[in-house]
Amino acid sequence: MNRRILLIEDNEQNRYLVTYLLEARGWVVTHAPDGPSGLELAGATNPALILLDIQLPGMDGYAVARRLRTMAKLEGVPIVAVTSYAMPGDREHCLVAGCTGYLEKPIDPQTFVEQVESFLPPDSDTSGPRAS
Ligand code: MN
Repeated sequence: MNRRILLIEDNEQNRYLVTYLLEARGWVVTHAPDGPSGLELAGATNPALILLDIQLPGMDGYAVARRLRTMAKLEGVPIVAVTSYAMPGDREHCLVAGCTGYLEKPIDPQTFVEQVESFLPPDSDTSGPRAS
């Protein structure tokens, strides 16, 4: 059962909140603070899902998503953009870059984990009893 999520996020407060919410629901969170380290960790670990901030220093989330989608071992792994960008067209931009879906900041702590889990494929091996 794969309960690992890779979080690519440069903001400490967002990282803390997202990690707290996911771990409370039995997920194991691996964190990368920027695109290059996110790509490295995506290859080195076996995430069930990738949460991707779009506003990252240097290499932005769109570029990270495009690179992730070139990695054969990540085929079928959902990439969910989490971004404060709210301009029309940004969602489409995320999807064109290869993201599976899009969640807006600020996140809602009451529904965030369910929203994230809704992007997992129905036949994924991530279901089962939760840690809490
Ligand atoms: Mn950011």
